[in-house]
Amino acid sequence: MILKIVQEKGPIIGEDIADILGVVRSTLRPDFAFLTKSGFLEARPRVGYYFTGKKLYSIVIEAVKKLKVKDWQAVPVVVGEEATVYEAIVNLFHNDVGTLYIVSEGGILEGVVSRKDLLKNVLGQANIQKIPVNIIMTRMPNVVTINADDSLWSAAKKLVEHEIDSLPVVQPVFHNEREGLEVIGRITKTTITTAFVQIGQNKSEQQEKE
Ligand code: ADP
Repeated sequence: MILKIVQEKGPIIGEDIADILGVVRSTLRPDFAFLTKSGFLEARPRVGYYFTGKKLYSIVIEAVKKLKVKDWQAVPVVVGEEATVYEAIVNLFHNDVGTLYIVSEGGILEGVVSRKDLLKNVLGQANIQKIPVNIIMTRMPNVVTINADDSLWSAAKKLVEHEIDSLPVVQPVFHNEREGLEVIGRITKTTITTAFVQIGQNKSEQQEKE
């Protein structure tokens, strides 16, 4: 009813809306708070409430695009370049992940290996106890990465566009006189699914932590 009144008579002050509805203004305070916070109405001092014209759909999209990688990223699972394929497989099970990030000294990203990269080598009956994982990894600069300040939506888009399961979250660093990308997090299809479920439950990660 508030939306209808504002649509018809806006801009209109809260007092007048309350009069029309036959209630006191303070009764409507939570309603006004919800309607402005969710983007349906905007309030200007001394002018009153006016209708933003935004549809629920675009409000939801705006909210989704505001989710940041840094608020949803998981801890990265990394192995050193010198690790063998066998060690990488053990690591995959041990940490219950699908993709490992291969790093050099200083946590600098050198490559990624996925479940199928590892399976392929086992099936090829290579000596997995001897082969270093850096021989079979997808290596830099071909690794698709994301930054902590990027939106979760752009991470999801990269996963879909590149047909991959996981993105290392990185930050630029200068190590041993060379520029590199330090691995600081992990975004996977599971992360996106978790976010999707929590949004459905109207529960942000932040609220969960509190
Ligand atoms: P799987 O192959 O186990 O289904 P993915 O679909 O993630 O897992 O991996 C497909 C291929 O893409 C693999 O060869 C893997 O090394 C590579 N890959 C995985 N993640 C990335 C990434 N972030 N950037 C570039 N290549 C990747």
